[in-house]
Amino acid sequence: MSTFNWQRAVVKVGSSLIAPNNNQCSTEYLAAIAEFIKKSRKQGKEVILVSSGSVAAGKGKIAFNHHPSIAEKQAMAAIGQTQMMASWASLFEFDCAQILLTSDDLHNRTRYVNIKNTLRQLLKNQALPIVNENDTVAVNELKVGDNDNLAAYVALVAEADTLIICSDIDGLFDDNPRKNPNAKLIPEVTEINQQIYDLAGGAGSDVGTGGMQTKVQAAHKCVKSGIQTLIVNGRDAKALAMLAEGQVPGTRFVPSQSLDSARDTWLRHTLKVRGVIHVDQGAKQALLDTGASLLPSGIINVEGQFDSGEAVNICFEDTPIAKGLVMYNAADLAAIKGLNSNMIEATLGYSFSEAAIHRDDLVLL
Ligand code: GLU
Repeated sequence: MSTFNWQRAVVKVGSSLIAPNNNQCSTEYLAAIAEFIKKSRKQGKEVILVSSGSVAAGKGKIAFNHHPSIAEKQAMAAIGQTQMMASWASLFEFDCAQILLTSDDLHNRTRYVNIKNTLRQLLKNQALPIVNENDTVAVNELKVGDNDNLAAYVALVAEADTLIICSDIDGLFDDNPRKNPNAKLIPEVTEINQQIYDLAGGAGSDVGTGGMQTKVQAAHKCVKSGIQTLIVNGRDAKALAMLAEGQVPGTRFVPSQSLDSARDTWLRHTLKVRGVIHVDQGAKQALLDTGASLLPSGIINVEGQFDSGEAVNICFEDTPIAKGLVMYNAADLAAIKGLNSNMIEATLGYSFSEAAIHRDDLVLL
């Protein structure tokens, strides 16, 4: 049995675990997953849940003929979402925080930054973020469409090192295990190629939208960014207990590079620089020597037109010393430069963060 290390994970739980009868929520399978989450948090690890099940949970509450219409499904999701949240909340003594996202939210830079900041705050305050697609507002082309891919996006925004997909199957097999009893579980995948996609076949269960295909797509998005991905059987309490011990009871997709080097490459080489922030001696020292965030108080000057979430160079005496993603746009940064962070709100009428650039969004050059 192989082992794995992690510090911050997105745990994705599918509809077939939350509403196993495709109607109403049940905690039958959630209890063991909740146990895993509690144990992990006690070990000092951070967890974000991506939970499906709103449509399935609300199914019995809305009348429909044969196939529900989009509006009927959205109404189901509106009812089911609160039931799904309540099911999770009943299993934890800490706060559960609901986050509903659409594809739009993830593609709009300002909203993306807001999501990232909110997740950071929730984790800092020991709450458990529970994310789902905002099914009541998003239809087809506005949707990510399945929670496997949604979970991959959440892992990227949250800068998680691990994505754990809890399914109703043990992992990826070398043949369809529902048809071939001799199919063997693949414990480790080091390269996601066409052969792996072919093995994933079509959709698996009839509850929820995802099948093995979307799980492999999610793993693909993650491993490229240094995030390891596991597919495990969320119905198997033993598998979840093993997971808490750092063992891999299913399939592990190995990242092609470490999270740090993927992030580093992205920040350092991929992102286009949109402006320059000139800082004073004190800020330079704080950045280089103590690994601090960049505060507005250390900013002398702001150059260029950029939006919050875009990349800028940080310069001391015209020499670039670091590169990072700004919390504020150019005009707002210019307005708060040199100020103490407690003046941000009074000056701008809002405050995203006390930092101009958060330490986690910064590389030294
Ligand atoms: N967002 C959907 C729901 O909560 C589920 C999508 C999926 O299972 O992939 O019902």
